[in-house]
Formats: sequence, C-alpha cells, structure tokens
Amino acid sequence: MNKILNNLPNKFGYFGKYGGQILPNGLKPIFDDIYNEYKKIKKDKNFIEEYKYLLKNYVGRPSPLYFAKNLTEKIGGAKIYLKREDLNHTGAHKINHTLGEALLAKRIGKTKLLAETGAGQHGVALATAAAIVGIDCEIHMGEIDIKKQYPNVMRMKLLGAKVINVKSGGKCLKDAVDSAFKSFLKDPKNIFFGIGSVVGPHPFPKIVMDFQSIVGKEAKKQILQQEKRLPDYLVACVGGGSNAIGLFHKFLNEDSVKIIGVEPAGKNFLPGNHAATLKIGTPGYIHGMFTYLLQDKNHNPLPVHSIASGLDYPGVGPIHSYLKDIKRIEYVTANNKEALCAFKTLTKIEGIIPALESSHAIAYGIKLAKKLDKEKIIIINLSGRGDKDLDYVTKILK
Ligand SMILES: *Cc1c(COP(=O)(O)O)cnc(C)c1O
Repeated sequence: MNKILNNLPNKFGYFGKYGGQILPNGLKPIFDDIYNEYKKIKKDKNFIEEYKYLLKNYVGRPSPLYFAKNLTEKIGGAKIYLKREDLNHTGAHKINHTLGEALLAKRIGKTKLLAETGAGQHGVALATAAAIVGIDCEIHMGEIDIKKQYPNVMRMKLLGAKVINVKSGGKCLKDAVDSAFKSFLKDPKNIFFGIGSVVGPHPFPKIVMDFQSIVGKEAKKQILQQEKRLPDYLVACVGGGSNAIGLFHKFLNEDSVKIIGVEPAGKNFLPGNHAATLKIGTPGYIHGMFTYLLQDKNHNPLPVHSIASGLDYPGVGPIHSYLKDIKRIEYVTANNKEALCAFKTLTKIEGIIPALESSHAIAYGIKLAKKLDKEKIIIINLSGRGDKDLDYVTKILK
C-alpha cells in the first residue's frame, strides 16, 4: 500500500510542488518557530488531554455518523451516511481547528488571536475558541460584510472579540485579509494568525489538517462498527478544503475507498461566477502558498462567487492541489441550483437543515447514490448546519 502523505509536507512545507512558505522578509523564523513549538506540544500529554477534553465536553464530539434512511430509500441506490459536524457547538467543523489554534497560541505564549472573516463564520468560531481558552481576539471584517452579516458581528462582540471595520478597497473579504495581515505585521512575535482553513503559508495547512483529521478518524471507527466494513465513497465540499481533508485524511491509504471533493460551480463557469478552483484554475501564488488558483493574465486572483459564502475562495489548500495531481481524489462540482435543491430535500425528508456549503456535497452525493447498487456505502460530510442561511434561502425561494 502506498503511504500517501507519510512524509508530507516536507520540511519546507511542500506537498509535491504545492504549498511552501512565501512570506515577507523576516517572518520566516516566526512561522518556523510556531511549527517547532507545535511539534513539541502535539506530543505533550497535558495539551492532548486538554484538547481532547474540550472536544468531548465542549464541542460535543464524537459527532454521530448517521444513516440517512429516508434519503437512501427515496433515492433507491447506495446507502448514504452523514457525518454530523453540524451538531458541533457553534454548528460546524471549524471549531475543531480554531480550538486547537487557540490552545496552541496560548501554550506558546502568544497574547492575541487575529484573523479576517468574510461571512463571519470563521470569526465566530475563532472568537468562541478565544473565549473558552482565555486569550484576546481581533477579527477584521469588511464594512459591506459587517452590514450583511450583522448577527455574526454581534456574536463576535458578545464573545469578547474586537471587530475591526475595514473601510478600504471593496470593503469585503480581500480587504479584510490585507487589513488583518497589516495588523499582524505590527507585532508578529505576540500575535497568532488564526488561519481559517488548510491554506496559507507553512505550517498552517499542516496544523489545520491535523486538528481536522479527528473527523475521519471517528468516521472510520463508526462505519466499521455500524457496517463492519469501509465505505465505498467519501464526499465533502471544498472551499479552502479543511472539512474535506478532515474527513478524507484517515482514508487516503485505503485504496478501496473512492474520494470525491465537490467545488462550487456557482451560476456558470464564466470568470467571477463560480469558485471551482481545481476544475478551472491553474497553479499560482496566493496568501503565502503555491496552489491551484483562479487567476487573470497578470496572475491576480479573480473574483469568485457561490451561494455558499464559505466556499467562495479563489485558491485552495495545497494538499488538495497535490491530491488532484496524483489522482488520489477526484474533484467535481455542484452549482447553486443543485445545492439549493439538496438543501430543500435534506430538510424536508430528514429534518436536517444543512449549511449551503454542505449542500454542495449532498447534491453530488445524491447524484452518485442514484447510480450505485444498494449495497454500496457513501459517507457525506455534513460540515455545518444551515440556520445561518435561512434569511438568504427564504429570499431566493420566494
Ligand atoms: C467555512 C465552511 C466551509 C468551507 O471551508 P473548508 O475549509 O473548505 O471546509 C464548509 N462548510 C461549512 C459549514 C463552513 O462553515
């Protein structure tokens, strides 16, 4: 059996030719230091126990692996299981890694967690982790996003985070990233940049992947208990790629398990109307890494779109670029319409309101199940709950 990822990333942070650590002068030692401390702490009994305790008693892990009987019967094909990350405290998988990051930051003596947020999901997950761990938190958010996502702004403020209103440029995510990075550069020794997915410069793709791999570790144990065998397929949505690699990681060396990542095809495949990075993009540089990227002729990131705000990112985690090239994972797409349809279907027949992000995985999982025999097994990662999307969905379904 080939051992995928055994020695990856290498010591320079590369998965094959992807990843790396493309940083302004002077920052490399700080990021290397975080990795060295992380490697030590990962083996520290107290740290492991504290993280495990919080995952169990605060987040509510293990999350159930639920056999979606109604959905399976309606479709009449493969058996569909849902990994219920929507049942985690704060309603999505993100808490798995923000909690890890907050504990790590505190352990290595950092005084503040800092990040940008688009729709506010990452900001809320990080502010929650900061509250429970007891460390300051500063979240940068574009002025337009603040207006659009006010409930998340209130949550972050109540959780004790300082929310910075970014009024430069287009006043959206990209400007929030620039603003957060500027703020980080003022005191990089004491600030921990709490990255929100398996993206950014080394060692963040590796650290976030490690923290998220709990999802697949549990799922493997659970499916072996419930079905006495491994699944035939895994399906997860891919924005930056953290929930996907979280589910996939423990199965990468299982040759019998087919693995599928689902990107958002948005409205269509014209530039600006989708965020299907691995399908349409080409390798390039973004946010400190080399990876597939939706870019224009001058190598600037293109605008992106999806009804699921958590999926509209023009890059992708370098681990996924690597797994695409070696053909271990197949990357497909689902569009806005298909995701909405899956959102409605799951809500109505299973009584589970999925996040619009997760709805992309469900849409593809349903299509796949239809084509397969009844004894086949699919696990879909239900990365989050859809309560946050109700306003938006109600508006477009009118
Ligand atoms: C943020 C988010 C995603 C996308 O992020 P990944 O890093 O690709 O997992 C997917 N689902 C939900 C519910 C999210 O909040």
